[in-house]
Amino acid sequence: MIIVMEPGSSKERIDAVIRRIEDLGYGAHPIYGVERTVIGCVGHEDKSPLSQLESMPGVEAAIPILKPYKLVGREFKPEPSVLDFAGVPVGGERLAIVAGPCSVESRQQVLEIAHAVREAGAQFLRGGAFKPRTSPYAFQGLRGKGLEYLCEARAATGLKIVTEIVSVEDLPLMNEVDVLQIGARNCQNYALLNAVGQTKKPVVLKRGMSTLISEFLMSAEYILSEGNYNVALCERGIRTFETATRFTLDLNAIPVIKSLSHLPVLVDPSHGTGNWHYVEAMARASVAAGADGLMIEVHPDPKNALSDGPQSLKPEKFQKLVVEVRKIGEAMGRKI
Ligand code: PEP
Ligand code: MN
Repeated sequence: MIIVMEPGSSKERIDAVIRRIEDLGYGAHPIYGVERTVIGCVGHEDKSPLSQLESMPGVEAAIPILKPYKLVGREFKPEPSVLDFAGVPVGGERLAIVAGPCSVESRQQVLEIAHAVREAGAQFLRGGAFKPRTSPYAFQGLRGKGLEYLCEARAATGLKIVTEIVSVEDLPLMNEVDVLQIGARNCQNYALLNAVGQTKKPVVLKRGMSTLISEFLMSAEYILSEGNYNVALCERGIRTFETATRFTLDLNAIPVIKSLSHLPVLVDPSHGTGNWHYVEAMARASVAAGADGLMIEVHPDPKNALSDGPQSLKPEKFQKLVVEVRKIGEAMGRKI
């Protein structure tokens, strides 16, 4: 249910409605617009007690939300969200470029990549310190040391840092991180989604490799329902019958999600293809299809990378990608 307040309603009236919603046992999620405030009510299935709100002073209408996801949907918020990712806008007219190694491997490696991707035009440095690997024998990440190196790279370049959280218990270690990534394998880890929702940290939520768009949006709903609205969705390829590429990058997801949700959509063509040869083409296609940003894996020595070397671009190739993507962005009215 959405409660639409009359234009120019006073703070007292808005607060009174919020209190009544909470007294009735629902969560209240206000959006304070320039002209009017709307309040999303979420909670148990029976919405009939909420109809009494219609008679409260300042309430213009109570409108049911028909979709299963409430706060992430366009019914609740028709205009696209421009998020604040540690001071950098995500959504809106700027394209967000998130780039860096799959794994943080050493201080030297992450500093070198950070300088290179910054020069090319990225605003965010990504790097996994905790890696969710298919094999328990594969490199699992430098953990705390990796986070330290990312912070050092931020200090040296001014890039904001993005890193993956794989478990609720690691949350206290993430205080210094600018943006939390929830990976494909944890897209439906509801305990992790709730815990991250309780922080106010920006989140990049990646689509699970077998997650329907409707399920993906419900995963984002977990985070928003806890009060954290700073969530960008990331398409990173899904499992299909095709084996020529590691995954099949679902470009359909971009216009579909953008029609259903106000949240920004990023695309990760590195995991989506699994092969560096195809990354630039799919990055261009993503921006042409309306993506709000890209996540790209970059490594100076892909052959010796500890994870995802075959899909990682060398810094020169990444630089060229940004040049090409910028052209497509301009044609779409977007800047980097
Ligand atoms: C990654 O970003 O390195 C990663 C593990 O991605 P995904 O969760 O999409 O597989
Ligand atoms: Mn990776």
